[in-house]
Amino acid sequence: MEQRITVKRVATAEKVIAFTFDDGPNAVYTPHMLEIFREVGGKATFYMIGEQIEANRAVAEAVYAEGHEIGNHTYAHPNLTEIAIGEAAEEMRRTDAIIREVTGEAVRTFRAPYLAANDDILALAAEMGCETIGALNTETHDWEQPGVAHILDKSRDHLVPGSILLFHDGYGDRSQSVEAVRTLVRELVADGFRLVTVRELLELGEGR
Ligand SMILES: [Zn+2]
Repeated sequence: MEQRITVKRVATAEKVIAFTFDDGPNAVYTPHMLEIFREVGGKATFYMIGEQIEANRAVAEAVYAEGHEIGNHTYAHPNLTEIAIGEAAEEMRRTDAIIREVTGEAVRTFRAPYLAANDDILALAAEMGCETIGALNTETHDWEQPGVAHILDKSRDHLVPGSILLFHDGYGDRSQSVEAVRTLVRELVADGFRLVTVRELLELGEGR
């Protein structure tokens, strides 16, 4: 049986990186992230919470309209490993349906809240046609607002081809995340990197 894993990086020689944003859509911070990527012609992936899509539907629509990927981040952001598997499935299915309403297409990638995924959750995601996605720069702790310099410092260790980077655009003041992402995006593009969605990154991958 194929072993299922959380994908944090894809093996590729191409200078491509996937930025991901969790916990939106958010009416204040998501548009800032969109502007940063619009400026450089890059794409990103937004792991959205179902109830936040319902609250900020127009923001989700703008994300999709600008060519970004929308991934599943559950309906109400529970730790899926601490609830019944049936409830976990419902959390994922409900948001899968909401995202399909926005995009009109299948959802291909999933990120577990708190990055908490066990074999059962990985199997559930796979049944729904989704890869489970992690990230390399989780020690930034950008959700705790540790300072822009800290977020930059902990992300710079991972600016290599095929990296998946995680930041937050919802649930709290995300101005530090916005500033750090603005700086990283400009640096990477100047250095010849292409900023792609996770879906695109997976397609470019040469195996993991
Ligand atoms: Zn989250």
